[in-house]
Amino acid sequence: MTSPDRVAPYQSYVYAYPHKTAYRKLDDRPPLSTLWAAEPKDALSLYLHIPFCEIRCGFCNLFTRIGAPDGLTTAYLDALDRQATAVRAALGEEAPVRFATAAFGGGTPTFLTAAELERLCDIAEHRMGADLRAVPLSVEASPATATADRLTVLAERGTTRLSLGVQSFDDTEARAAVRPQRRADVEAALGRVRDARIPVLNIDLIYGIDGQTEETWLRSLAAALAWRPEELYLYPLYIRPLTGLGRRADGPDQAWDEQRLRLYRTGRDHLLAHGYEQQSMRMFRRADAPPQGADDYACQTDGMIGLGCGARSYTARLHYSFDYAVGMHQIRSIIDDYVSRPATDFAHAEHGRPMNPDEARRRHLLQSLLQAEGLQVADYRARFGGRTPADDFAAELERFADRGWLESGDPHAAVLRLTPEGLAHSDAIGPELFSPAVRAAMAAYERK
Ligand code: SF4
Repeated sequence: MTSPDRVAPYQSYVYAYPHKTAYRKLDDRPPLSTLWAAEPKDALSLYLHIPFCEIRCGFCNLFTRIGAPDGLTTAYLDALDRQATAVRAALGEEAPVRFATAAFGGGTPTFLTAAELERLCDIAEHRMGADLRAVPLSVEASPATATADRLTVLAERGTTRLSLGVQSFDDTEARAAVRPQRRADVEAALGRVRDARIPVLNIDLIYGIDGQTEETWLRSLAAALAWRPEELYLYPLYIRPLTGLGRRADGPDQAWDEQRLRLYRTGRDHLLAHGYEQQSMRMFRRADAPPQGADDYACQTDGMIGLGCGARSYTARLHYSFDYAVGMHQIRSIIDDYVSRPATDFAHAEHGRPMNPDEARRRHLLQSLLQAEGLQVADYRARFGGRTPADDFAAELERFADRGWLESGDPHAAVLRLTPEGLAHSDAIGPELFSPAVRAAMAAYERK
């Protein structure tokens, strides 16, 4: 039974707003040169998306396919090269173009061979003009593909953060999450990452797996801490439509919510007691870790250039990407379509969602409030013509305060910061801040 005033804690992980399911085909295919003409371009973020993995984890709804038939990774890098050339040309030469941060994500970027990773770095540097050795560069990897030759390339080309998707150090739990791997292989991969001397190691772990207990969870955490990772991400397991585990989903499950909340609190308290600081619901940093992140890039305001068929790009007025899918068949055909495109296609935006001032305010609130350090009302005022979050989101903030999720209990405070319970409910707070229009677009999206 679900009590009437209970708020489901795990509704959705809001890592970007609006979600891609709110994007639609842009019939006018606006030229990128127009979209970027008036944008500040001196502190951009560059993201390169590699949509290949060795297996499809049961919980994953990211845009990625299993394996690559012969020649597909080369064709994909050729297309990335064409896209990078077209996008860089669209950014123009009138105003200085500079990237303040870069990331390779996926999928699994290290699905590429060492030679292909060299090429990926060349595309970022020579085509886009990103100075990879001078800016933070984050790369995602899986244990099996974090091989010494690939890590050497990544370290030499300037990688400052390597994020390893471990999920669990317990072989049975890894299998239950449909991410079969052996602990011995994970430990060996961690050893190779440390040998490569990349400054920041991040380990991703998942809680809420079938059969996982506080004891097994603490064992996984202890195994991770033995490597003294600079960062740890603790992800609640989600069962999403069209994923491997999604086929077993059958509606809300209060017992599972309670298991996840319990394991979350156990994990959080364990990390806080072992010298880590909480940055957001999922992210923890070792207190003595070297600083990471660009000093001059702010995710709330600055532009992002995404390259690759699953990447998004953000200007102040439009968020855009290519078509989106979760089902394997559709993903394959979107990738096949991407690699066959001529350079001219990449000079336009095809799918996206226009941002208006209301959406920009929501995005700013979401991206700040869900961070442990919270939202500085003075920043919001400066950006939005003297308005405050309490002017714009009175009902939502009152509700969060009533539930004990706002630190001062006062929506008019100078800093809006979540309480520990508020942070624990980040995945309920995020969706409550979606606009009615975005909510409607997401609901109308036909999953494929
Ligand atoms: S979780 Fe990561 S490794 Fe697993 S399928 Fe998704 S992108 Fe690939």
